[in-house]
Amino acid sequence: MIPFVDLQAQHRALKKELEAAVVGVLDSASFALGKPVRQFEERFAAYCGCRHAVALNSGTSALHLALLAAGVGPGDEVITVPMTFVATVSAILYTGARPVLVDIDPVTWTMDPTRVENAIGERTKAIIPVHLHGLAADMEPILRLAEPRAITVIEDAAQAHGAVYKGRRAGSLGHIGCFSFYPSKNLGACGEGGAIVTDDSALAETVCRLRDWGQDGKYNHVLKGFNYRMDAIQGAVLEVKLKQLTRWTELRQACARQYDSKLAGLVRQLPWTSQERQHVYHVYAPLFDHRCAAQARLARAGVSTSIHYPRPVHLQPAFADLGYEAGDFSISEEFARLTLSLPMYPELTEAQIGRVCAALSGVAHAQTI
Ligand SMILES: *Cc1c(COP(=O)(O)O)cnc(C)c1O
Repeated sequence: MIPFVDLQAQHRALKKELEAAVVGVLDSASFALGKPVRQFEERFAAYCGCRHAVALNSGTSALHLALLAAGVGPGDEVITVPMTFVATVSAILYTGARPVLVDIDPVTWTMDPTRVENAIGERTKAIIPVHLHGLAADMEPILRLAEPRAITVIEDAAQAHGAVYKGRRAGSLGHIGCFSFYPSKNLGACGEGGAIVTDDSALAETVCRLRDWGQDGKYNHVLKGFNYRMDAIQGAVLEVKLKQLTRWTELRQACARQYDSKLAGLVRQLPWTSQERQHVYHVYAPLFDHRCAAQARLARAGVSTSIHYPRPVHLQPAFADLGYEAGDFSISEEFARLTLSLPMYPELTEAQIGRVCAALSGVAHAQTI
């Protein structure tokens, strides 16, 4: 059997170091924020190439507080894509603002900057490009549209720790970057976690207050805030794992290169990357002409797969009230029909990749299962 992700392999390799870090927190009996979280924030900010990081309890909280810090509220509009995890759109709704969706680019599968200008209106307060699967969206043209209009650009980098765009890392490309440390993400906690990163001290300070009930000192509440604090245990765990992230990313990229060379010609479209925009392969998902047949062949060969995402957000029942319908975002809709995510994690071996690709040989011509 080849699992879709293998978190046990990651844990086995770091077991001793993680246990020591967790026991250290238990012995300190200091469980919320505190020194381990502060240290992780410093190192993660440096990793991203930003002046500030604020650690939170999830990636969803990061998006929510980034929007609030940018001043987004009822009556405002925020532009994002329908091909993302629902959290991107939900965070916009939490603020009372209206999500305005634009389709993805058919080659890179990230926000199509040429569609953004038409979506900008009087009420547009923020744009959230999503670095889907670990490839940074094309940020330069988006920032060029946003800056003269004082629109805040918030990166949804929940899948893109360490992704490079023109020499800079995801999170440092827009005004605020949002990360998730959900266990299966490229940098994952032993539980839930998230962070924002930014160079803007005022934004960082606002997020810092909002995560802890809007306090600027004990029981002095200057903002209406939330309990979005990171656990000390997660801070300690993430500091241990952050030291591995560069190596893990290189291993994911090596796996992707092996897939790319073996699958060329077998699939409709491979994930796009370039020297300028270095993919970090949170997900490795080609498009298949016959996805159902491909998934069935892999299942018979003992290979687990997944689909990210089978339905774009605008076609999810919970978001029907956004007023969009089938056909509104044809690139995202076709992508949702054809995408199939293959096993991808740093510990995946060349032999395993060979078995996945062997199971797919002939799939280009399969009409039926
Ligand atoms: C995982 C994810 C989120 C949400 O992060 P959580 O930590 O699960 O709240 C948001 N956006 C994208 C694109 C994600 O993949």
